[in-house]
Amino acid sequence: MAPDSLEGALALKTEHGDDAKFLAGGQSLIPAMNFRLAQTALLIDVNNLKELDYIRRDANGDLHLGALTRQRRLERDPLVKQYAPLLHEAMPWVAHPQIRNRGTLGGSLAHADPAAELPVIALALGARLRAQTARDERWITVDDFFRGLFTTDLASDEMLVEVVLPPLPPRTGAAFIEFSRRRGDYAMLGLAAIVTLNESGACEKARLVYLNAGDGPVDAKQAADLLKGQKPSAEVFAAAASLAAEQEINPMGSIHASPDYQRHLARVLTGRALKQAFARASQ
Ligand SMILES: Cc1cc2nc3c(=O)[nH]c(=O)nc-3n(C[C@H](O)[C@H](O)[C@H](O)COP(=O)(O)OP(=O)(O)OC[C@H]3O[C@@H](n4cnc5c(N)ncnc54)[C@H](O)[C@@H]3O)c2cc1C
Repeated sequence: MAPDSLEGALALKTEHGDDAKFLAGGQSLIPAMNFRLAQTALLIDVNNLKELDYIRRDANGDLHLGALTRQRRLERDPLVKQYAPLLHEAMPWVAHPQIRNRGTLGGSLAHADPAAELPVIALALGARLRAQTARDERWITVDDFFRGLFTTDLASDEMLVEVVLPPLPPRTGAAFIEFSRRRGDYAMLGLAAIVTLNESGACEKARLVYLNAGDGPVDAKQAADLLKGQKPSAEVFAAAASLAAEQEINPMGSIHASPDYQRHLARVLTGRALKQAFARASQ
């Protein structure tokens, strides 16, 4: 069914619950159905809900992104480029342009693939997510949203309708890096690094979030804490990278990369991402 209104879509979801699935870009759901990894009695096609395709900035500097915003739009949008440069930097790494033309922000977050870029970016940026049912709505902080492998906090009658990214504090720099065999493939490992410096150039706050390194986006809190109070140096970057790679991530391995190789990538890529993030923060 393809309802014309959000109310209509939510009413159908309330009625059918887990027997129904929203169809957004279809770039994860349809392949999963083709492989018989997902089955559903009813598809609720939400592509008519144009009101959920938007990018706006409010007076507080928060960036509001509608859940049905296509990934290609996020990649090209000037507001995203200026105010959420980490998201802008990560977007070209999401699959291929053809897939980004259809895939949506909300679909990627709701799908919660541990190898996906958008959950990592949302977690690194401290996003807030608005979920709506036929009766009410609630806000979910991103720290509470991802609940494990392909699992989120969304209830069976809820739809993710909006994502809000807070503004970055002054003297903040961010970087996104991932590594895959071919451009467009899911990465063997990747990460987002964000650092905020104090006036003397030491790290005040940091966040390191990894993809394909566990059963969801992995927030390496101890490694980020290690950076606090530190000025940038190769030794500091190496210490944080080792801590994250050896103790905080839990890569599962695949035919493309063993867990050991993923840990090696984490060490190398963390060093590079931190170097870039510190340099950008001090610009
Ligand atoms: C060949 C290929 C390569 C890919 N490579 C990558 C990659 O490198 N990185 C990456 O991140 N992704 C990759 N993807 C996935 C792609 O980014 C998808 O677009 C995305 O994961 C899902 O978005 P969608 O809008 O297509 O969601 P859909 O496939 O329509 O839906 C996915 C799931 O989310 C649910 N859903 C959708 N929207 C909502 C909502 N608003 N509220 C609640 N539930 C909702 C659906 O019911 C479904 O269960 C790839 C896909 C393909 C086919």
